[in-house]
Amino acid sequence: MGTTYTVKWVGGNEAQISAIRKEVTTALLSVNQAMSTYIADSELSLLNQLPVEGEVELSDSLFFVLSLAQRISKETLGAFDITVGPLVNLWGFGPDGRALRAPTDSDILLLQESIGFENLVLSSTPQKALKKTALYIDLSAIAKGYGVDVLASIMEKNNIRDYLVEIGGELRAQGHKPNNQDWKIAIESPVKGERKVQKVLSISNTGIATSGDYRNYFEEEGIRYSHTIDPNTGKPIAHRLASVTVLMPTCAEADAMATAFMVMGEERAFEFAVKHDVDAFFIIKSNQNFIEKMTPGFDKRLVK
Ligand code: ADP
Ligand code: MG
Repeated sequence: MGTTYTVKWVGGNEAQISAIRKEVTTALLSVNQAMSTYIADSELSLLNQLPVEGEVELSDSLFFVLSLAQRISKETLGAFDITVGPLVNLWGFGPDGRALRAPTDSDILLLQESIGFENLVLSSTPQKALKKTALYIDLSAIAKGYGVDVLASIMEKNNIRDYLVEIGGELRAQGHKPNNQDWKIAIESPVKGERKVQKVLSISNTGIATSGDYRNYFEEEGIRYSHTIDPNTGKPIAHRLASVTVLMPTCAEADAMATAFMVMGEERAFEFAVKHDVDAFFIIKSNQNFIEKMTPGFDKRLVK
């Protein structure tokens, strides 16, 4: 996943630590082998190479994540869409590497013809995927969160009830710290090259994920192009939202929803969050400053 991970829990001894280290390593390798577009023979890469109208049986984990992604695409009216992969690559944010300039409108239109989550048809018993168009799927906005949920399930399986697991900043907090308090999580301020704390949260029994435009982007003639693509326009999002943090029961959902909220922009996303009872925090650019906006549920978790 091109990032680091952390597994923390309360209690434990050397033997347990080394057993869990092994379990975690194996589990994460298998998530990568199922879902990475950076591995040429991953299960997802093979699905991506499948011709139009091709059908393939899926592993439980890939089927689970694709199904969840489809559900979130429907709920967010297509703001979240794992089939934007070709556009991600065209804009230089995929495995092929950086773009130096923005692509042309006709390049974008051409790719948009095959894009759309409804062109991926999933069926169960047996679990299969069918490609209606030349789809290329990119799970970068959900697989990290899913990996965190896999880490959480390893903790649960080992009867560990107090833990904090994290991959690349997306995390799950469960139970309490050794002092019996909730886990404290800092949210970074969305300033390029800087690592400053914007807010501190006190959380337990939740997944949490942040998406932002301040770490992964390229600049051309003073315009910043984000790695989040609006599936509607085929272009990187262009609005005032600098970062979104989302709390949801699982980290996969939080990860995907944070990306969807970036696409929606703060007004639509805020409305959606309140309506669907999702706790969320928005940092919005305003001249030289940032404005914060949060749902009432999120406000309750702030350490003040
Ligand atoms: P990060 O990788 O910083 O955690 P995200 O979770 O928001 O950020 O994932 C961003 C990645 O998701 C992009 O690099 C791209 O691969 C993919 N992506 C971009 N736009 C979308 C979208 N609208 N729906 C789903 N995935 C997207
Ligand atoms: Mg995401």
